[in-house]
Amino acid sequence: MTDRSSAERADELVDAWDEMREYVDHEPQTYERLVVGCARKLAADPSGPLAYSWTLGLVLALPYLATRKPEDGDVGAAFDAAQAVDRALRDAHCTHQGHPFQSDLEGELGNMADVLRELADNGRRWTDLRPRDAWLCPRNVAGHARVVMESLRPGSADDVPPFLPFEDRYELEGLTAIMEGYPLARTFDVAWDLSFAASALQEAADDELAGRVFVATSVAWYVEAEADDADAQELVDELAGAFERAIGLLDDGPCPHGAHPDLPIDTTEALWVGMHLASARGRAAYEKWPEPWAPPLDTALCPAFVAVTARDSLTRLRND
Ligand SMILES: [Zn+2]
Ligand SMILES: [Zn+2]
Repeated sequence: MTDRSSAERADELVDAWDEMREYVDHEPQTYERLVVGCARKLAADPSGPLAYSWTLGLVLALPYLATRKPEDGDVGAAFDAAQAVDRALRDAHCTHQGHPFQSDLEGELGNMADVLRELADNGRRWTDLRPRDAWLCPRNVAGHARVVMESLRPGSADDVPPFLPFEDRYELEGLTAIMEGYPLARTFDVAWDLSFAASALQEAADDELAGRVFVATSVAWYVEAEADDADAQELVDELAGAFERAIGLLDDGPCPHGAHPDLPIDTTEALWVGMHLASARGRAAYEKWPEPWAPPLDTALCPAFVAVTARDSLTRLRND
């Protein structure tokens, strides 16, 4: 047996969790083992001294777990373990005014591995703005367990702050990377990935329509600026067909707004707006954690504004 300190072992585990968060579906078998191992440890001792660590490990696993099917074994194991933690710890006594699990998960996730490393090793300098004991508080651990539950089975823990569904985050990160010129390893064919924006708009339900028009609009802007005309023709046709259908569905009669704010000019920001507006959970997160550059929710969802945006995108695609 090698002689290693527990801090070093914890470090290795956090590195593995952090890799799983970043690469999402890079090594599914390894990630599945990690999640099942993590869930087992947690379920065996849901109120134990390391419950915080296993629970945050499951939070870091959420981007990966969103690529799995609900009936997959690791998803069930993670949910059951999180539920056991919530039951064991949610009513613990505490005097904190608030807990880290109540923050914006979208901003939190990139920082969480560092927090875990610092929590596991008293010798490290504490860098998070919130006190260490608020992270370790049983109520916070239970809160993060509910974040896991809510992500895996929406509606199971709806008292946690809203966050963009991880399936949508997966799509957002893939498209953002393409638009920034550095496609992720999982993107084998850029045009193929972009075409999902057209098919999703083509199939969008009423309450997804606004968000999906904006996602497709950002892709149309990107295609207009970047794509080779010959390669892009099929994609342009798919996008145009989807915009035509959307325009037919939108009631763009008079609306109560004197004026509508513009979508952000930046393609990836417009994409971000669209992905958030495409689901009820995304819209709740959009409203709860507003970005200064993003238009207010009510005017962004206005059918007249959405129709103008779709028509403008269609005109630009057709004139190319
Ligand atoms: Zn507390
Ligand atoms: Zn309006």
